[in-house]
Amino acid sequence: MAGATTTELFHPRGERLKVSPLRGSTFSAAPQPRMGRFAFLRSGQNADVQRKRMVLLVEDEQSIAEPLAEAIGREGFETKVAGTVAESLALAAQIEPDLVLLDVMLPDGSGFDVCRELRQRSQVPIIMLTARGEEADRVIGLELGADDYVVKPFSAREVVARIRAVLRRTEASPGLDEAKPIEIGELRLDPAKRQATKDGEVLELSRKEFELLQLLMQNAGSVVTREQAFEDVWDTNWFGSTKTLDVHVSGLRRKLGDDSSEPRFLHTVRGVGFRFASPDEL
Ligand code: CA
Repeated sequence: MAGATTTELFHPRGERLKVSPLRGSTFSAAPQPRMGRFAFLRSGQNADVQRKRMVLLVEDEQSIAEPLAEAIGREGFETKVAGTVAESLALAAQIEPDLVLLDVMLPDGSGFDVCRELRQRSQVPIIMLTARGEEADRVIGLELGADDYVVKPFSAREVVARIRAVLRRTEASPGLDEAKPIEIGELRLDPAKRQATKDGEVLELSRKEFELLQLLMQNAGSVVTREQAFEDVWDTNWFGSTKTLDVHVSGLRRKLGDDSSEPRFLHTVRGVGFRFASPDEL
């Protein structure tokens, strides 16, 4: 190690052992990221910093797995490596990774089997590591529910870029959907602006009325039970009087111009809850 002051060794659990000839050995629990949103958590530091994403790398070739795991770790991710189908499924169940990098050719079977199996239990993003020229592999992987693929030989940089892109895509979509305005008939609800309008006129709603309307409109066409409404809007399992809910419902009806005996939007489902009309039944 000519001239080097620190040597990095790989520990089987993915941790990094720093051996410094000057200061002896220090053991860091995780590779230290350079910067950015994946801030390094020191013990005692406030834990509301975003937790590290866990990447499960399924690759039997050590000459690929080790440097790749290290490179991903340097970018602020935690990594675990599995070398077989069996190991990868067991590890996935145990650690619940945020993303899986999945080689196709494994000693005890195919990465496609892992992909199929993982898809049956979760929506974890999967990136297939496929061999050059095996175009069929890419198609099969995507058909089995993989989110993306990279072709061997790849650079660690390329893989990290794909990881970030896939995580951005998969993690952003539920939030965006939630924030997307909902339109039903002449009603429009904009969650981002926390505003509801009817024929372009802003409805003066209380906070709870707005949240209740949002819940109902997001589930338009299906029944929202009274319990669900309490849990979502009041953040509680309601053991007391359920009159609060009825008061909010009738307030909403009034502001929507709905007739309770013959409602256009907000229907009561006796003994169960409420159902908001879907756009196509108006
Ligand atoms: Ca392989």
